[in-house]
Amino acid sequence: MAAGLKIVLLGPPGCGKGTQAEILAEELGVPAISTGEMLRGAVNEGSELGSKVEGIMSSGALVDDETMAAVVRERLARDDAREGFLLDGYPRTLPQAETLTSILSASGDELDAVVLVDVPEEELVDRALGRGRADDSDEVVRERLRVYREKTQPLIGFYEQRGLLRSVDGYASIDDVTGRIREALG
Ligand code: AMP
Repeated sequence: MAAGLKIVLLGPPGCGKGTQAEILAEELGVPAISTGEMLRGAVNEGSELGSKVEGIMSSGALVDDETMAAVVRERLARDDAREGFLLDGYPRTLPQAETLTSILSASGDELDAVVLVDVPEEELVDRALGRGRADDSDEVVRERLRVYREKTQPLIGFYEQRGLLRSVDGYASIDDVTGRIREALG
């Protein structure tokens, strides 16, 4: 795989895309940018952003698009993201996808690929509950999946239309899924 790739990892909560983003980012020498991690960091720091998003995150809802645009715009402007990145957890709505396109095109850039990590829903519930984060009660897990279906799944068609989508069966071991993503990226 060539360095300098600008990639989005798409998939339902618990599909393993965070783990895959970390592994592939290391291989590619680009940062793995997880908006969920960034927001959890803000909550832990007790920053203004953190107090704004804490309740939203623990309910399983999405933080508003405008707040997320500011977070992502600032992160992608940092030096380490110039040569490429793996985005994990952004975009999650159609307006966020449009925002990402415009952030990148402002500097003459565009995405190279969007990788969908596909996993059956029941498997996702088990995985998410096994993860044991304080906010991962059964109800919140199901709410996250509902929000994914409603708000994020439309991105599959959005990126398919743009010829960027690569689908990978994510119902396998971590190593196998990494291999499949490598293959999908060519
Ligand atoms: P994650 O770790 O990606 O599952 O994100 C954890 C939580 O952070 C989500 O359930 C949302 O509340 C919030 N979040 C992370 N990324 C986004 C995003 N792109 N848009 C809206 N909310 C987000």
